[in-house]
Amino acid sequence: MPMPSSTSAVAARGPRPASLRHAPTRGKRGLPEELMPRIITIANQKGGVGKTTTAVNLAASLAAAERRTLLIDVDPQGNAGSALGIPRDDAEPSVYEVLLDGVPLAEVVKRTELKFLDLAPASRHLVGAELELAGEEGREQRLARAVAAVAAEYEYVLIDCPPSLGLLTLNGLVAAQGVIIPIQCEYFALEGLADVLRTIDLVKGAANPRLQVDGIVLTMHAANNLAQQVEDEIRKHFKKEVFKTVIPRNVRLSESPSHGKPILLYDVSSKGCQSYLELAREVVRRVDRAGRAA
Ligand code: ATP
Ligand code: MG
Repeated sequence: MPMPSSTSAVAARGPRPASLRHAPTRGKRGLPEELMPRIITIANQKGGVGKTTTAVNLAASLAAAERRTLLIDVDPQGNAGSALGIPRDDAEPSVYEVLLDGVPLAEVVKRTELKFLDLAPASRHLVGAELELAGEEGREQRLARAVAAVAAEYEYVLIDCPPSLGLLTLNGLVAAQGVIIPIQCEYFALEGLADVLRTIDLVKGAANPRLQVDGIVLTMHAANNLAQQVEDEIRKHFKKEVFKTVIPRNVRLSESPSHGKPILLYDVSSKGCQSYLELAREVVRRVDRAGRAA
């Protein structure tokens, strides 16, 4: 499949890979669908399962295919920004000001090394946002409103969540049409998954009826029996909801954040990079099938 195979191809303009192209059609509200971004939240309250790695590298893979993509970091850790070479700067306006002070997202967005990828950075102040938002009107809708204002600018908006199911993740779920749940292929992999699914159902039943699970992605898959057993178990339970693409445990993926680069710009030939490119193709196929306006 014609996906970028070298770093220069990633940065250069050129025809979009056919697998990531889709014909312009019209959404439910009569808007051309290309004006409606697909908003995907990457969530799992379990820590260290590959949320940020997935958010960053899926966003970079979509951008490499010339999909205008915005990655929003709502995790106070700010790992998504550092992984893209934009270290957290707590003095700069961030997603915190967007959520608390109503600053437009466009004012905090930063360009990244990839032409088609922008970042809305987190800051340490987000640690307090959960409490500060608690008494506020429309506290769960803050991000949704902010994203709506930049909808025409992007084809994909990805939201990287912290390892909790608090107000920050809730804002991510209310803003999104789809959720991708990364699950680490390890013992206790399913621990806590019921909580994420219950939260998604609650959001679906109240603030955001259009929300759907775009898919479960298996991450850090080591080539051993345990990982295979975990994978079999998850596929047995969740069937088609599990992406075919599996992200292997790959040392290049764990190295790239310390170089401030998505894997595409660090080692395009690595298995980790190729698997995230494949995941991007699968996501685009699913989104095309589901329809952007869903
Ligand atoms: P948190 O819950 O703290 O936000 P997270 O769910 O975002 O964590 P990551 O930060 O993406 O998880 O990954 C946790 C650690 O595992 C990181 O050090 C990351 O580099 C590493 N890692 C993630 N995916 C892989 C992989 N496929 N192969 C090897 N290492 C990986
Ligand atoms: Mg993270």
